[in-house]
Amino acid sequence: MDAISQGVQRMAPSATVAITQLARERAAAGHDIISLSVGEPDFDTPEHVRDAGIAAINGGKTRYTAADGIAELKQAVADKFNRDNALAVTADQCCVGSGGKQIIFNAMVATLDPGDEVIMGAPYWVSYPDIVGFCGAKPVVVPCDANSGFRLTADQLRAAITPNTRWVILNSPANPSGAIYGEAELAALGEVLLANPHVMVLSDDIYEYLIYDGARFATMASVVPALKARTLTVNGVSKAFAMTGWRIGYATGPKWLLAAMNKLSGQSITNACSISQWASVAALNGDMSFLDDWRAEFVARRNHVVERLRAIPELGCDRPKGAFYVFASCAGAMGRTSAGGTKIESDRDFVMALIAEANVATVHGAAFGMSPYFRISYATSMDRLDVAMDRIEKFCSQLI
Ligand code: GLU
Repeated sequence: MDAISQGVQRMAPSATVAITQLARERAAAGHDIISLSVGEPDFDTPEHVRDAGIAAINGGKTRYTAADGIAELKQAVADKFNRDNALAVTADQCCVGSGGKQIIFNAMVATLDPGDEVIMGAPYWVSYPDIVGFCGAKPVVVPCDANSGFRLTADQLRAAITPNTRWVILNSPANPSGAIYGEAELAALGEVLLANPHVMVLSDDIYEYLIYDGARFATMASVVPALKARTLTVNGVSKAFAMTGWRIGYATGPKWLLAAMNKLSGQSITNACSISQWASVAALNGDMSFLDDWRAEFVARRNHVVERLRAIPELGCDRPKGAFYVFASCAGAMGRTSAGGTKIESDRDFVMALIAEANVATVHGAAFGMSPYFRISYATSMDRLDVAMDRIEKFCSQLI
């Protein structure tokens, strides 16, 4: 263990990645496991995007690129921010990376020193605190429970800010809760941030297009333009275009920050995959009407999962307005014993017993900083979801 750096020792493995790998291994060992653990759409990458990737391969676009992305993709990213978010940015204010996670990692490594603090509401996406901790900085976790719709309020933000605060991380629609910050909520948070010019904003907008029930997407840099100079707006093609494996994220932010992130990419990944970058140009510039069908499908699945969960006495959940997760309480299972003899004392126990005894993989709330909960990703076919819900129901009904 001594050979491992302190930074890596401080990190926990990504629970979403680890549990999904566990599910893969159980499937490979012959178990009929249903994986609701990873956040990735089950749809195919749209055909015109796949075609652009194939054309890139056949056209020899298979060499190193600029560390922060090919000019064509940076332009497509700038156009997207102008078109969809009313953010007046140029291509040189944009960068491309190997997934949203790498962009966030770069931003944190580029700016954090020991003693710095980063504010995030819980439940949070699993990797935020570990990336911050890796940098030697302190994640300042503010509990945002179901009563506040799992959202950070202006008062909570004000109380959490200290002279050491470097960033606040906002994520809307949120992983794992599906919560959405509307314009009014962002404006209230923005007011607090305007009074604290030393705090930067990381707006993780990766679920931007997965928003339901007439809710409207909003992002801090366009709601409070005065914050644009200290906001990094992060997005990617993974969730909107079912391109998780292609690994392309992108961002816009202040040039000094992008330059530092560019340096890090040049010394680590060199560049994001050239083929994936060309496919992403087609994605961002192309027709997005297919998303209407995807959203309709996600809404049907969400409603079904919520309905089924609410019928299980031990569980409970809200109806999330975005992303493709349901973050459900499993408080009623605590202290009980499963049919397989597992004493369930935590949401992790619950999730592990569910995998071992019911062949359904989900992720425990503790990994997202809030217990006792578990996250279901409903980006799986309705048939499989239904079987998974049958199994969860049976598992809970057998608790003693
Ligand atoms: N963001 C997705 C999730 O939460 C993918 C895995 C990961 O990067 O955490 O499941």
